[in-house]
Amino acid sequence: MTLTVGFVGLGNMGGPMAANLVGAGHTVTGYDLVPEAVDRAAGYGVRTAATAAGAAADADVVFTMLPSGRHVLEVYRELVTVTRGALFVDCSTVAVGDARVAADLARTAGHRAVDAPVSGGVTGAGAAALTFMVGAEDADFAAVEPVLAAMGRKVVHCGASGAGQAAKICNNLILGISMIAVGEAFVLGESLGLSHQALFDVASTASGQCWALTSNCPVPGPVPTSPANRDYAAGFAAALMAKDLGLAADAATAHAVPAELGSRAAELYAQFAAGGGAGLDFSAIVTTLREARA
Ligand code: NAD
Repeated sequence: MTLTVGFVGLGNMGGPMAANLVGAGHTVTGYDLVPEAVDRAAGYGVRTAATAAGAAADADVVFTMLPSGRHVLEVYRELVTVTRGALFVDCSTVAVGDARVAADLARTAGHRAVDAPVSGGVTGAGAAALTFMVGAEDADFAAVEPVLAAMGRKVVHCGASGAGQAAKICNNLILGISMIAVGEAFVLGESLGLSHQALFDVASTASGQCWALTSNCPVPGPVPTSPANRDYAAGFAAALMAKDLGLAADAATAHAVPAELGSRAAELYAQFAAGGGAGLDFSAIVTTLREARA
């Protein structure tokens, strides 16, 4: 079914996602604060609007792909008043509580709402290969699943509102910690005279195997497509990993879960981001682990 889609937030992720919705035959009108992002999306066949309200007007489905919960709530407060009976889909990574507030805002104004954060990064967004983690009522999930399928390979219904965000921060808790573990292993291996390739060849086929090693290897060489081979150009920016681990640490504190490694990882990424690494791929954390070597 061809839908009229409003898409707010055409950045690294939102731009290619909107392009894939166009590719699936939907009529997509997009908006971003940054004119270059709008122009890029226009090049992919996204119609452009001068305001977020203009993008959402008359839309069947309103997507948001924004930096944080604050941005999402600001945009929702405006957009719930400009369209009627739409399905609001927030794909940004935000706190579980913010996702529930956003859904309440939309529902109170007569809309349906789901949270649908993603995993797969910029490459996955471009290749329509994202994983979507969805928090939604059953009927809303049934409505959104075929739309998300145009942008992803896997769409998982995680539970009610906020459950998609819960899955996202738990997944990134694993990822953030495992990248530090892989980085520590390479730095220790260097000190022990082990080549990167030898450690990779062993760990990638042994019990140390994980995505941080085999897809986003933090040292150049073993995985040619990993950001380490292009001076850690993101990829998934360290600032975003710091944000996600901050959300996970806050949630752990709120629920009295002693996630000690997660909290420490949140500190390390926050320091790395504040020290100039914010825009680098999060795998560049290996450089600080190496510098910390006595
Ligand atoms: P980005 O900074 O490239 O894009 C966000 C866009 O939102 C920017 O272009 C910005 O101008 C726009 N924006 C901000 N406020 C706005 C407003 N009020 N109205 C319209 N546009 C506005 O970020 P991104 O990498 O695309 O990430 C977006 C979200 O996806 C984040 O929540 C991030 O945590 C999540 N995410 C990112 C990745 C990744 O690999 N980049 C992976 C998974 C999830």
